[in-house]
Amino acid sequence: MNFDLNENQTMFRDMVRDFARKEIAPIAQQMDEEGGMPDELIAKMRDSGFFGLAFPEQYGGLGADTITYGLVVEELAKVSAGVCVMLTVHNSVGSYPVAMFGSDEIKQEYLPRMAAGEIAAFCVTEPGAGSDAASLATTARRDGDEYILNGSKIFVTNGARAAFYVVVARTPGTTGHKDTHAFIVPRDTPGLVVGKKEDKMGLRASDTAVIDFEDARVPASRLLGKEGDGFRIAMAALDGGRIGIAFQSLGIGMACLDEAVKYAAVREQFGGPLLKQPVIGNMIADMGTELEAARLLALQAAWLKDQGRPYGKQAAMAKLACSEAAWRAADTAVQIHGGYGFCKEYPVERYYRDVRVTRIYEGTSEIQRLVIARHIGREYS
Ligand SMILES: Cc1cc2nc3c(=O)[nH]c(=O)nc-3n(C[C@H](O)[C@H](O)[C@H](O)COP(=O)(O)OP(=O)(O)OC[C@H]3O[C@@H](n4cnc5c(N)ncnc54)[C@H](O)[C@@H]3O)c2cc1C
Repeated sequence: MNFDLNENQTMFRDMVRDFARKEIAPIAQQMDEEGGMPDELIAKMRDSGFFGLAFPEQYGGLGADTITYGLVVEELAKVSAGVCVMLTVHNSVGSYPVAMFGSDEIKQEYLPRMAAGEIAAFCVTEPGAGSDAASLATTARRDGDEYILNGSKIFVTNGARAAFYVVVARTPGTTGHKDTHAFIVPRDTPGLVVGKKEDKMGLRASDTAVIDFEDARVPASRLLGKEGDGFRIAMAALDGGRIGIAFQSLGIGMACLDEAVKYAAVREQFGGPLLKQPVIGNMIADMGTELEAARLLALQAAWLKDQGRPYGKQAAMAKLACSEAAWRAADTAVQIHGGYGFCKEYPVERYYRDVRVTRIYEGTSEIQRLVIARHIGREYS
């Protein structure tokens, strides 16, 4: 078994680490306070090819494998989880359905534009359909060569900035996961309305918006896969997306570990640095061990995906383990900072808020456990 990264993977990781430290870290706190991301930063990331990271080279992307993608995501999350999620949604759930299920015409039309930096979003969640995504109510009524979309999608990452939206909707009058269809819908489609932006606890650099469909006409040629594939496409996208969230969590967790060690090395109590106190050393040992164990699951899931082998179970395990380990790491880092951990002067306060959502989006921890239990159950039947 070989745990070494190859030259390409190391090169990509180091390039992004450098960019993140120079271009993102200095404004991370400001983006959190102001609740947004400067256009200049997005332009620089476009120029550096970040939007085409996971896209095939034939469509203008960098064609990074999933391990490389994960390493890059981790580096971005170490400095700004908000910037990170903007890019992960774009490079995974926002574009994967197009790359995997789009017709040749759809791929030719949209993937090069996405890879060049026109941002993609993923619209599944609704006011009445969260964990139970199959209960979605947005309708797609066939009318000749078009579908007419009506309904409301919520919590759409990149909702306010996106140029393209992957949307899942159902035939009117149906229930369940059959009769659901996935579409690629450009922002300028009449009837697609960008609604309110959420005022969030964390990931404040990233925008999360409501997207309404009011008699939005979408040509049938923009259907992804076949009629009835909507739910299946959304679930396939989420399997891959979860690997990205696993690495995002790891990035936040590793940043917490880093800050905790730095602080404990200089903060003196009881006649010496905190780091010399065995209890604090134990806390740091547990943080490091849990994060490294979780990392192995994330790398395994990424490796399986790169081998073209089934990875749904491992992706759910990786997302669960990484997000829970990172959450505990953030809590411990705040604890090690004492009262200062509760103040905005130290970045652990932001990491603590940012990490919380990793146990919620792209399937809550409870849903990951359902998915994992289902996989394990099948292995025994
Ligand atoms: C910042 C942010 C960004 C997001 N980005 C996107 C996006 O880009 N696109 C998109 O489509 N969605 C997005 N989401 C939505 C996200 O995926 C959902 O919030 C998530 O799936 C949970 O759904 P819910 O909020 O409706 O919670 P609910 O489904 O109402 O769940 C509430 C609680 O009940 C628990 N629960 C529910 N069912 C069960 C069960 N069967 N067994 C045990 N416990 C259960 C859940 O685990 C949770 O703890 C985003 C959310 C946030 C906060």
